[in-house]
Amino acid sequence: MNHQLYQLPRTPPLHPILMMKGFANLLGILLLGAGWLLGQAGQTAGNRSGATIEGTLERTQDGRPALRVSPDRLVVLAGDSETIEVLTDERLAGRRMGVRGRYASGGRFLVAPFHTKAFWVLENGKKLYVSYWCSTCAIRTYTPGICMCCQKETALELRETP
Ligand SMILES: [Zn+2]
Repeated sequence: MNHQLYQLPRTPPLHPILMMKGFANLLGILLLGAGWLLGQAGQTAGNRSGATIEGTLERTQDGRPALRVSPDRLVVLAGDSETIEVLTDERLAGRRMGVRGRYASGGRFLVAPFHTKAFWVLENGKKLYVSYWCSTCAIRTYTPGICMCCQKETALELRETP
């Protein structure tokens, strides 16, 4: 019995270099796997806390607000009614803006709720928040339109204060 065991062909010893190569490959695969997992985790976290995109404010042919994020990429913006009211204000068209939210179906970008101050104008490296001011009544509002007091059209005023 023992004798037979000794007769079994022995596997040739692995060359140390080959062994190292095998180890390196294995390590590479492990690192790739870890990287992928981290990427997934990062994406999930990103979706949860929201993403920010920047570009020039434009409008689609059917009147929806959109950000030109690169010469060949226009991202249509969606959001609540106040957000859309401001983002379609003619006075903001062509301005560089940042918006916070998340990508939704159809490649649209859903801007976070209006009260969270999820959009701003970018000017000289500063974030400026959109407000509307009636100088007659000293009343500030955050959507375009007429003053609730004197019924005059309010003026667009960009401020660093959210
Ligand atoms: Zn007024």
